[in-house]
Amino acid sequence: MQFHFHTSSEHTVNGNYFPAEVHFVHQSEDGNYAVIAAFYEEGEENELFKLYMKYFPTAEGEYTSDDKFDILSLLPENKSYYYYKGSLTTPPCSETVSWYILKNNLSASKEQLEEFAEILDNNFRPVQKLNGRKIEEYTE
Ligand SMILES: [Zn+2]
Repeated sequence: MQFHFHTSSEHTVNGNYFPAEVHFVHQSEDGNYAVIAAFYEEGEENELFKLYMKYFPTAEGEYTSDDKFDILSLLPENKSYYYYKGSLTTPPCSETVSWYILKNNLSASKEQLEEFAEILDNNFRPVQKLNGRKIEEYTE
């Protein structure tokens, strides 16, 4: 359906937040969601941010584009992930989401992450208790 970003991350790994997280949102015909999430860590400059940083809306809203690019090229090569059944992180927070959290991080430069954090201004939902949810793992 769409993808969007959060700063800081909405998930933690061993209690650690990441500077940013991307969500690729999919919805099935029966209304359930699957979200593939990946974290950004400080490192090499990110090509996607380089191309689109100037287009990210500075007020709430969406940016649409006819540009075409390979979504797979935005993801890390190794697709190992954590999986759990959870909820949307924004209202109505329905418990209808299959979360796939990639274990391998993407990178962006310090400057890009700072610029991004300024635009998105802490648009993350704080981590929730697991409440008995089971986290499964798939290692490629
Ligand atoms: Zn999200």
